[in-house]
Amino acid sequence: MFIWDPRYLIFALPALLLAFYAQWRVRSAYSQYSRKPNSRGISGSEAARILLRSAGLDHIRVEETPGQLSDHYDPRKNVLRVSRGVAQSRSIAALGIVAHEVGHAMQDAVDYTPLRVRSGLVPIVSIGSWLGPIIFLAGLFLSGFTGTTTIAYVGLFLFAGTVVFALITLPVEFNASKRALTLLRSYQLADGRELQGAKKVLDAAALTYVAALAQAVSTLLYYVFLLTGFSRRD
Ligand SMILES: [Zn+2]
Repeated sequence: MFIWDPRYLIFALPALLLAFYAQWRVRSAYSQYSRKPNSRGISGSEAARILLRSAGLDHIRVEETPGQLSDHYDPRKNVLRVSRGVAQSRSIAALGIVAHEVGHAMQDAVDYTPLRVRSGLVPIVSIGSWLGPIIFLAGLFLSGFTGTTTIAYVGLFLFAGTVVFALITLPVEFNASKRALTLLRSYQLADGRELQGAKKVLDAAALTYVAALAQAVSTLLYYVFLLTGFSRRD
């Protein structure tokens, strides 16, 4: 299989290292600021309700959800789900994480274009991310017999949707974090020092999305390399 191609490592390694680094940054920032209590002594759930009310988003419910750092906003059900650890924590990290999710709820309320584009891509990407590579590798294998790389290109374009998705995720995530810090400052839930801590947690989380984009791009480049290398042999 092409997966065992040692050349793949040359393409994949930088992105893989970035992903490990991003994970380490998230863990270290979270462990540091989840232990630092916020000065107003409010829990993640309380902060979520305060910020939603302040942003005029009273119709959005706040629910606890299992798992660690599984916090997310569900636009279809108008629910902001806060992981148990964050919901009950009165830490600086909890403020940052919850405010970020409220940032997504605000994006939804104002029809933020990158969020809409991203949601529209979900059905394509959920199929393309696994079917694209299969069609690509099958197409590449078959091209040895048929002499045409058309099928491989179909797989390549299907997988390319994953790259577009990872790319459009960046403005969505960066904008939610920017809104989060503005919210915390405007409604005086965090002072300057606390905002810095919240920013460190959110910046680390944002880096994981950059790493995801790097991984998608490097895989796509590897596919292009295989295809063009193959064509040259023909
Ligand atoms: Zn987010």
